Amino acid sequence: MKSVRALGAFSGGLDGMLASRVLIDQGIHVEAVTFDSPFFDVQAGETAATALGIKWHTVDFTSEIMALLFDPPSGFGKNMNPCIDCHAAMFRKLKEIAAREGFDFIFSGEVVGQRPMSQNRGSLNRVKNISRTGDILLRPLSARILDPTPIEEAGLVDRERLLDLNGRGRTKQLEMAREYGFSHIPSPGGGCLLTDPGYSNRLRVLKEVGLLSGDNARMIRFGRMFLLNGAVGLVGRSAAENDKMLHADTGIQLAIRDIPGPLGIILGKKTEKNITLLNAIMVSYTKAQEQVTVISNQGETFTAERIDSAERDKYSIML
Ligand code: SF4
Repeated sequence: MKSVRALGAFSGGLDGMLASRVLIDQGIHVEAVTFDSPFFDVQAGETAATALGIKWHTVDFTSEIMALLFDPPSGFGKNMNPCIDCHAAMFRKLKEIAAREGFDFIFSGEVVGQRPMSQNRGSLNRVKNISRTGDILLRPLSARILDPTPIEEAGLVDRERLLDLNGRGRTKQLEMAREYGFSHIPSPGGGCLLTDPGYSNRLRVLKEVGLLSGDNARMIRFGRMFLLNGAVGLVGRSAAENDKMLHADTGIQLAIRDIPGPLGIILGKKTEKNITLLNAIMVSYTKAQEQVTVISNQGETFTAERIDSAERDKYSIML
């Protein structure tokens, strides 16, 4: 008999692992997809899939999530997280893959009531409706307190062996993880940068100056951030950060010559005013009291002197 095949949205969190395991226990072939974007590190998904022994895939989700950051139809959560539309976009994508690759249904580790905005009963229904995945989407962890799905009605899964989890607590999930003998139990939190208040603040600034792009969103994970004139400046905080910024290949790079100092990057307008300002900010993080030389990755050389720290802080965007 042909085995039933299910494809899950998989961040690498405990709920996704348990949802997968519940299906595997029914003899269903399970594979997992982690959506890659500037805001989400897929490593956790790989670790969790390896721990479960299931086949793991990544799908580039950058263009979908970036589009949602401009004007999400269902709005933002507490920070820059458009969770409802983001879930819907992921499920749409999973549905496409499932049709192409011969999966019988898609699933997620969502639990009714777990997140006040994006995982209450109304939001789960909205996600299902706007993604048009009601025919193919299963939420194994809360299935028994939700309406039966066509997947259950068709007998592809046994509803009686699905779960009835409800609410924010993790006690039941941790108990199940112990019973299953999981050697890897992910910590709660999700790991999406869009739910982080400091990072969201940076992203808002990027959006306000018209610089919201996938590459720039990745860049602002690093360095101290400054709002220049219609541009954004980044200044490395450590040798490791300077190194990551150096290899990012985005924006105009500025480096202090002859003495130790941070790397600077300008995203956006490369005007003389902005270069002078960022150079001065960079010098303020060195011991230099005299003028120093700064070179750019475009072969230019500048003379720079430090800005007073109180003046510098007026341009600072805190993380
Ligand atoms: S937490 Fe981030 S990745 Fe998850 S649904 Fe919300 S916006 Fe999307």
